[in-house]
Amino acid sequence: IAKLNGKNRSHMFDIVNERHIRENHTLLTRVLKAYEQNEFQLYYQPKVNMHTGEVIGAEALIRWIHPQQGMIPPDVFLPLVENTEFSVTLGEWVMRQALEQMGKWSTAGLVLPVSINISGYHLQQADFVRRLAKVLNEFPQVPSDWLELEILETTAMEDLDRIAQLLDDCMKLGVHFALDDFGTGYSSLTYLRRLPTQTMKIDRSFVIDMLSNSMDHALVAGIVGLGKSLEREVIAEGVESLEHGIPLLRMGCYLAQGYGIARPMSADKVQEWVAQWQMPAIWRNY
Ligand code: C2E
Ligand code: MG
Ligand code: MG
Ligand code: MG
Repeated sequence: IAKLNGKNRSHMFDIVNERHIRENHTLLTRVLKAYEQNEFQLYYQPKVNMHTGEVIGAEALIRWIHPQQGMIPPDVFLPLVENTEFSVTLGEWVMRQALEQMGKWSTAGLVLPVSINISGYHLQQADFVRRLAKVLNEFPQVPSDWLELEILETTAMEDLDRIAQLLDDCMKLGVHFALDDFGTGYSSLTYLRRLPTQTMKIDRSFVIDMLSNSMDHALVAGIVGLGKSLEREVIAEGVESLEHGIPLLRMGCYLAQGYGIARPMSADKVQEWVAQWQMPAIWRNY
C-alpha cells in the first residue's frame, strides 16, 4: 500500500485524469474541515446471539453529518483519506469515541463491547501498539477486552509475519480481533491459521442472498464450518431479515448483524434498543 502512495499514485492519477485529482483534493480539504468542525459521529449497529437471544456487542460505524447534505456514508469519504496521515488521526478519534461511549453505557448499566474498523494504513503504523495502549490507558474504567478491532482480510495479507506479530502484541493488551468481510479477499487458509483473530465476519455479499441462492448458502455453510474447525467465532453480516437466521442457526452460526435485526443507530438510541430487544419467535425452534 505504502508503495502505491504519494508520488506514484498521484502520477498514475495525473495520467488518468487531472481534474479528478483536483476534485478529490477539494473533497479531502472538506473532510479535514468537517473533522475540525466536529461533523463526524459514530453510529452503532447491534450484534446478537440468535441462539441465546443476547445482544453481544455493537459495531461502530462512522458517519459524516454534513450540515447541508445530511448524512454522508463512509464509502463516500473514507477512500479519500485512505493512506494519508489523517486516517490515523481519524482512526484514533474513532477509538477514543468508542471507548468513551462504552464507559458511558457501562456507567448507565449497559455493558456493550464495541468493535471498530481499523484501516490498513493505521494498522501499519510502526507505533500502532504503543499508541493503542496509550489510548486504552486513557479509559481505565473500560476493560480493554470490550474493544474489538475489525481488520479487512486484504489488510491482513500485506505482510503476514508482521501483522501476525502485531495482532499478538495487541492481544496481549486484551483487545480482540475480527477478520472483516471474510471471503472477499484471498481467504487463504495459511493466513487464517497464522492470524490469531478470534472472530471471522462473513461478508454480507454471501449472506444477503443465501435464502434464494444455493451457491451463496453453500459458501456461508463452508465458512461456518471452517470457523468451527479453527475454533473461531463466526458472525454473519448482512442479515437483512429474521428469516436469514434460520439457515444460519442450522449451520451453527449463532452470531448475527444486519438490517433485519437493527440498522446502525446513533449512540443515544442504543440503550433503548437493547432494552426492547427480544429474541424473535422464529429463531426459537429452528
Ligand atoms: P463494514 O465494516 O463491513 O461494515 C458493515 C457495513 O454494512 C456498514 O456500512 C453497515 O451499515 C452495512 N450493513 C449492516 N447490515 C447490513 C445489511 O443487512 N444489509 C446491507 N446491505 N448492509 C448492511 P457502512 O456503515 O456504510 O460502512 C461501510 C464500510 O465503511 C464498513 O464496512 C467499513 O469497512 C468502513 N467503515 C465504517 N466506519 C469506519 C470507521 O470508523 N473506520 C474505518 N477505517 N472504516 C469504517
Ligand atoms: Mg466492520
Ligand atoms: Mg464487513
Ligand atoms: Mg465492508
